[in-house]
Amino acid sequence: MADLAPYACNPEHTRGRRYDEAPPVGRNQFQRDRDRIIHCNAFRLLEYKTQVFVNHEGDLFRTRLTHSLEVAQIARTLARNLGLHEDLTEAISLAHDLGHTPFGHAGQDELNACMRELAPEAGGFEHNLQSLRVVDELEERYAAFNGLNLCFETREGILKHCSVKHARLLGDVGERFLSRTQPSLEAQIANLADEIAYNNHDIDDGLRSGLITIEQLQMLEIFATHHAQVKRKYPRLEKRRLIAEIIRAMINTLVLDLTETTLANIREHRPDSADAVRAAPPLAAFSASMRRQADALKHFLLENLYRHYRVIRMTTKARSIIRELFVAFLDDPRLLAEEHRRGDEVAQARAIADYIAGMTDRYAIREHRQVFKME
Ligand code: MG
Repeated sequence: MADLAPYACNPEHTRGRRYDEAPPVGRNQFQRDRDRIIHCNAFRLLEYKTQVFVNHEGDLFRTRLTHSLEVAQIARTLARNLGLHEDLTEAISLAHDLGHTPFGHAGQDELNACMRELAPEAGGFEHNLQSLRVVDELEERYAAFNGLNLCFETREGILKHCSVKHARLLGDVGERFLSRTQPSLEAQIANLADEIAYNNHDIDDGLRSGLITIEQLQMLEIFATHHAQVKRKYPRLEKRRLIAEIIRAMINTLVLDLTETTLANIREHRPDSADAVRAAPPLAAFSASMRRQADALKHFLLENLYRHYRVIRMTTKARSIIRELFVAFLDDPRLLAEEHRRGDEVAQARAIADYIAGMTDRYAIREHRQVFKME
């Protein structure tokens, strides 16, 4: 690992774990967190959860697992360039989507709507908070505690956003949402690496699916610029390779811009510790021009891919699966295995949300078929 900058998080000075444990031997504290995440059940389930396209639509589309790996890889490059702790940034990246429901954002929106309408006392469903809940409470791998007992710094990074109401209940990791301060730089870059990863791979998957076209993408400055550059160098390049060359170059441009801008912000604010980073304004950022181009890309994907009628059809079906399961389980908890039943109504709604959120796309489809089959 490259030298740690003074503003990086240092595993020797972690704010610690929720339950005391002896320090690891042969690994640092953040490596241990990364390893715990890779070995947990929720991590393996990411393989069968949708990013944009439902898992069984095609073997080449991203899933939450490959998305998380791409985020980690981009985040590690950034960490190394900036003198940050690579293991921490990798741990945060690999864990950031652990709380995702089946069927991507549609699944999460529907589960939240169900919780709010049908169990208003239970406090809704936030996928980001659920990622923290997975590592804090839901994994069952240790004799002495629930969850994975990760370091504060990893948990801080996993919780990207959170309502004030929930923040009050979370203790240490919730504090920054009340004091309106920032998380570590490792967390900030993992968050932006997420954005770089999904913007680019959704273009790739969108083109592969045929729902968006190269011609449409030409209206985006960042795409048009790199398209022209690749075309100039390789005028006869076949389409798949052309797309791969453009996307590779776009990721590179975004990573370099983010590195330079962040370094400039660090030079300006001179944080001398991770806590000074937390007290400063957000330091990890794109330049103004790159921010504009990245926003245009996001907006394009929203309008042309995520709201494409074929994606909407897919997500409408997915929403009804989630809702029908939630309603059926809430009406009659006897449909649930013993381990998901609770005596109290609010706790029952939460346990159902945990159960549904943990499902993969195909498991949810199978479960729905079993609950509703007319035989
Ligand atoms: Mg993500």
